[in-house]
Amino acid sequence: MPELPEVEVTRRGVDPHLTGRVVTDVIVRREGLRWPFPADLRALLRGKMVLSTGRRGKYLLLNFAQGTVLIHLGMSGHLRILPRATPAAKHDHIDFVIGDQCLRMTDPRRFGAVLWHALDDGDIEHHPLLIGLGVEPLEDGFNAECLFEQTRMRNAPIKQVLLAGDIVVGVGNIYASESLFKARINPKTQAKRISLARYALLVSAIRETLAAAIEQGGRTLKDFVSVNGQSGYFQQNYFVYNRAGEACRICQRPIRQIRQGQRSSFYCVFCQK
Ligand SMILES: [Zn+2]
Repeated sequence: MPELPEVEVTRRGVDPHLTGRVVTDVIVRREGLRWPFPADLRALLRGKMVLSTGRRGKYLLLNFAQGTVLIHLGMSGHLRILPRATPAAKHDHIDFVIGDQCLRMTDPRRFGAVLWHALDDGDIEHHPLLIGLGVEPLEDGFNAECLFEQTRMRNAPIKQVLLAGDIVVGVGNIYASESLFKARINPKTQAKRISLARYALLVSAIRETLAAAIEQGGRTLKDFVSVNGQSGYFQQNYFVYNRAGEACRICQRPIRQIRQGQRSSFYCVFCQK
């Protein structure tokens, strides 16, 4: 599943091909994915210039003078820049044509989304899908004080509070597990029992983990402009994620896997308290 770093790397990869360019056509090959595509998307966007791209949580934003296209990659979606004439395969659902290229969305499992938010409907930040999102983890609003203050009443384990997305957005399963390891916090620890000092360590760990993933993903940017390119997802050397039973990279004891809220958590019993 694409997480925040994949979406940000995707945004950076496609941005030079979109910003300042005019959409010449929109080709829709099915009615929608998780939700129906906007019925009038072609009429809305033809002849309109992409002013900028953005990201909020895992939503990629294409900003036009008239409004914003929101794209979510769902469970399995990805975006590529391709020559316009590239034949569409089974799971290629929508093309935003820009001159002799197109931005193509591929999504085998079809949990992704393409939505339109008109400028007349207000600030994009007030879109129903965005308004409940927490602060961006790589922006200044995310700090130890905000995490500490907003968790004083939270009985839930810290891992699940991170994944809930209402305090900080985009720290998914992989990056929550990795960040908690680096901050030496057990994923089962109740959020309200974690001190300000430990939250400072966690904030640093989250920022470092996400920034490193984005940097590593950036090295695969060429994939976004290749006909035969990979999905844009990238594998990394994790400390704990998906390493159940393998040796902890610090203490050599086996990494443990547990279930928390239907999701797997990976941690070291000895290094994380
Ligand atoms: Zn360990």
